Order: sequence, then C-alpha cells, then structure tokens
Amino acid sequence: MDAPSDTLPADPIVGIDLGTTNSLVAYCFESGPRVLGGELGAIVPSVVRFLEGGEVEVGAGARLGRAQHAASTVASAKRFMGRTAAESASFAEGLGARLVEGPRGLAAFDVGGRVVTPQQVAAEVLRELKSIAERELGRQVRRAVVTVPAYFDDAQRQATRDAARLAGLEAVRIVNEPTAAALAYGLGQARRSERIAVYDLGGGTFDVTILDIVPAGEAGTGADCFQVLATAGDTALGGDDVDRAVAAHWFGRDPALQQARQDHALLVAAAEEAKIALAERDATEVSVWLSGGRRSLSLSRAELDAAAAPLVERTLSACQRALVDAGIHASELDRVVLVGGSTRLSCVRAAVERFFAKPAYTALDPDRVVALGAAVQAAIVAGARRDLLLLDVIPLSLGIETVGGAVAKLVMRNSPIPTRATERFSTSKDGQTSVRIHVVQGERELVEHCRSLGRFDLRGLPPMPAGIPQLEVEFLVDQNGVLSVKAVEKRSGREASIQVVPTYGLTQDEVDRMERESVEHAREDMTLHRVIDLRIHAELDLKWIGEALARVRGELDAAYVVELERAMSDVRGRCEAAARDPRTVDADAFYRAKQALDVLSMRVHEVSIARSLRGAGVSQPPEA
Ligand code: ADP
Ligand code: MG
Repeated sequence: MDAPSDTLPADPIVGIDLGTTNSLVAYCFESGPRVLGGELGAIVPSVVRFLEGGEVEVGAGARLGRAQHAASTVASAKRFMGRTAAESASFAEGLGARLVEGPRGLAAFDVGGRVVTPQQVAAEVLRELKSIAERELGRQVRRAVVTVPAYFDDAQRQATRDAARLAGLEAVRIVNEPTAAALAYGLGQARRSERIAVYDLGGGTFDVTILDIVPAGEAGTGADCFQVLATAGDTALGGDDVDRAVAAHWFGRDPALQQARQDHALLVAAAEEAKIALAERDATEVSVWLSGGRRSLSLSRAELDAAAAPLVERTLSACQRALVDAGIHASELDRVVLVGGSTRLSCVRAAVERFFAKPAYTALDPDRVVALGAAVQAAIVAGARRDLLLLDVIPLSLGIETVGGAVAKLVMRNSPIPTRATERFSTSKDGQTSVRIHVVQGERELVEHCRSLGRFDLRGLPPMPAGIPQLEVEFLVDQNGVLSVKAVEKRSGREASIQVVPTYGLTQDEVDRMERESVEHAREDMTLHRVIDLRIHAELDLKWIGEALARVRGELDAAYVVELERAMSDVRGRCEAAARDPRTVDADAFYRAKQALDVLSMRVHEVSIARSLRGAGVSQPPEA
C-alpha cells in the first residue's frame, strides 16, 4: 500500500472520471497516481437504482439488476446532463426509467413516481466515489477535479459542477478527458510543444480530440497549456454496439436462440463477457441461461473482429473529420493516446495504429487513464511539487524472465531516460512455436523477487531446433518514462510488443526496500542464478551430446562411451535436482561436473557432423 495516511494532506483533492458507463476516483500519491478502491482500484458502473423509501443502489449491483428493475434504474445519465428533454429524446431509447421534462424544460427521469434530474443521478455516483476515497485515504474528501468530454458546453460543465456540489464535493477544476489522459502519460513535460490525438472509445460514446500541448515557457503562462484544436465523435457508438453486433452474429448463426424478448438482453450481456475474455485468448466459450435452457456460445477473435469492423470504420471516419477540422495531416501528430475500455480490443488498437501510422500509447489501463490524469491535475492544483512526478531516471532495473525463473536485466537502475537496450535470446525446446516474454522490474536475480510489469507472447514461430531461433528483445523507455518492449524472431520476422509505465504504483519506500533487499540477498541470488544458468546450458549440452552420440556411437571406443555416459548421467542428475529446487544444488560441484562433461564430450562432437550445432551463452525465455 501507499504512503501512510499521516503524510497525506488534511484536505486531499481527488481526481474523478465521471464516465457514461463507468466512473472511478484516483489520488496522486508521492509515487504517482493510483485508482482508489482496493489493490486493483474500483471501477463503479455509472448506474443508479432508486428504491422505494428513498434508498439508492449504485454501481455493479444496480447494473446487474438493470433489466429486472428497468423502470427505477438510470444508466448513462451523463448523456442528459445540461440538456433539455427535447434535445435528449433521441438517446432515451433503452434508458430504463422514463424520460420526462424537468424544471426549465431540462431532461429528467421518472423513477417510479419520483422525478430525478441527471445531476441527482450523477451525484449518487459521485457520493459513492467520495466514500471509496474517504475509506482508503482515511480523510474527509471535500474537493475533486472532475473530467468531462472536450465537447461539453458550458451548460453541461455547469451541470457537472452541480452534481459534485449535491454530493458534497467542490469541483475545483473541470478538466477535459483527453487533457487528463495526456497528463496521466506525463505528456507536455517535454520542452517543445507537442501535437497529439486522443482516441477514446468507451461503452456508449466515441470521441477523438486533437490537442496541442504548449509547455509553460513557450506559452508564457505559469503552466503547460492544453489547447483543443478539434474534436469529433459519435455519441451513440461504443463497446455496447460491439456487444449487440456479437449477439446479432450468434443469432444469425442460430435463429432459435432468441425465443423470448428478454433473451436479447441476456445474449448481449453474454456477448460482453465473451468480448472481454478474448482480450486474453483467441477463442472463448460462454454459457448463458435463456428461456429455452442453458446454452453454450463460442466466439473467436476473428468473429469478434468481423462484428466490430463496421464500428471501428465509423470511428476512423470521425478521426478523419477531426484531422480535416484541425487542418492537419496524420503525419503531423507526435503521439496517439488510447483511452476507454473498448480500446482494449486488439482490432481497435491495430486499426488506430494503421490509420495514424504510428504506435499508440497504451501503457496505462485505457479505462483508468482519465482518472489517473484527473489525479495528476488535482496534485497540481493542490500545489504538490510537480517534479515529484517527473522521473528522469529508471528507479529499478528492467529485464525479462528466462527459463528457470532467472532474470536477464536489459536496462540498469539509474539509467537516464530516454534509453534503449537490446539483447539476443533463443528457445529452449525443439519445435517451440511460441515464446512468453515476461517483463519484470527489480534488482534481484530471480523473477519471484522482482515486480512483474507485464507479459506477452510471441506466437507463430516456425518450428526450429532449440537454440536456433534468433529472438531479439528491445527495451525502449521514452522521455515520458513509458517502456515499450518488442520481441522479434529474426529468421521469420515475427514480432510482438507491449507497453508499460514502470514507475507507476511504486512508492519511494518500495524502491528503497527492493534496493536494500538486492544488496542483502546479492550472494544468495547470484548462486541461485548461477545454478539456474548452469542447468539451462547443461540441458542443452546433454541434448546435443545425446544426439551426436546416437549418430556416431559405432565409430567410438567402447570405454570412452561408458565414461561419457557416466558423466552425462551425473550432470543429468544435477539438472533434475536444480529443476526441483535450485537451492539444494551445490553450484561449484555442478560447475565442475559440467566442466568435466564439456571436456569429455569434445571427442564425440569432433566425430559428429553436428559439431557446429554446439552453442554456448544462450539463455531462453520460457515457452508461452
Ligand atoms: P465510459 O468512458 O463510456 O464510461 P469505459 O471507458 O469504462 O466507458 O469503457 C466501457 C466499455 O469498455 C464497455 O463497453 C466494456 O464492455 C468495454 N471493455 C472493458 N474491458 C474490455 C476488454 N477487455 N475488451 C473489450 N472491451 C472492453
Ligand atoms: Mg470515459
């Protein structure tokens, strides 16, 4: 957990992403911003159910019961903020509660006889976020930075302030969502001005914003200046549409699926579940209870991509409009930032990168990045020193896991950023067609003692003997502290990559502790690392010697073969022990046994035509 609460100010300012679909609250600790609500941070669905007797239910529970209690439940209230009932009639379909005309013709909802305004609904969500923050910070929370879409007009911004006031929060700043996303990435800390696009695909809305970030010095202002050049989007386009398209795909495959009307909502919910599961795998199966009984439904990545394709196309035409409005060409953009839960779809990310012809910023969770940026803005408003957030060195070393749980470090602690490092690896098994790259941070020699930053798989390698593929792993830390890791298999050209922000969530205490431990355990770690390395090399040696021996056994002296096989079984026994628990193995004895085998095996290699295959100095990431 983060800094003890006594280092927090008495009157902390939090950052709030009040979303159409989901809302979050974050706070900027000394180590950087973090979403509040437990270890992972709470994502609160922006759904409120008004119960009889004045009680309310907010969040996941209200969302689950939404179909059942449609008339008393309001979702997506944000669409109605500061709008008249007449203006908003078009997006009231599927709302649940009935849209009515409130004071001054403004939109309001009839929730079982009671009339509530969108501000009141939003206030319930804000109250929930406020209490999450108070529980975690151990302080009363009275002030917040709240984000709104860049296209929100004055009435909509004012309605947002009013909602905060109703919840007992002063909205000390209203910040544009794309600006918050840029702040979360620390963009704008460069000396020169930057031009960025923020692509935000949420649950039910899509926005793209072109921004200029002018550094304080150049702008002649006290702070960096975020200037919106153009916005475009579609207020009825988002992840919900993807869910509906998937449900339609299932229905097309089997028209018997949708016998009863309420089955449609269940199918759409199952579609969302399948869609989210596909973030981790290529195919999935979900089961759903329909009126006809339990059904199991399969969905592949290719089917999902096909269902989403027309929606993704629509977002790209909005991007084109924004570029035209801003009077610029995609090539003039310095960066593209992805925001919103739906940008987790790999087809969305790929389409955006193709359209803008550059890799997108994806290191921060796209559904958290706005809240994190709001927290950064809150820290600036609070006058917390901004340079605390600016990291110009890598606080702890960065590396990847190799076979056996050892760490190969690529970027050393205290390297200045930006920085780049590459290293060559190979595979450990014959015919291996995938490799898992596990990115870790820390000073210790073993993965289990380091902090895991992320994993990704390099798939589709052509099968080759162990040690033959040439994997090149590149670490690139840009000036904003964003780490991109790319793995390429040189022979086949296959590549895969990931982005992370290595500094997020690490407190100064953690950095200190990890550094201290690395010194305390240095000797023990080195020994373990050595045993693991010995094992990896010895296993490859055994394999190659075994192969060579099988080929040329007949040409060798029988006494030599007996001696060689004895040495092999000695080394094999030590490898097996090291695989069970490297701590039980005497590294020096292992080294001597391997050394003896090395010398002895020279003859068999000499005789064997496979001599050239004998390799050394390779370490291998584990199989995916
Ligand atoms: P908003 O800003 O509109 O409140 P979010 O940014 O929270 O919305 O995005 C919510 C959307 O993200 C939902 O449609 C949800 O299904 C989608 N989503 C969340 N996780 C994933 C995922 N792993 N893959 C695809 N879509 C996802
Ligand atoms: Mg959002």
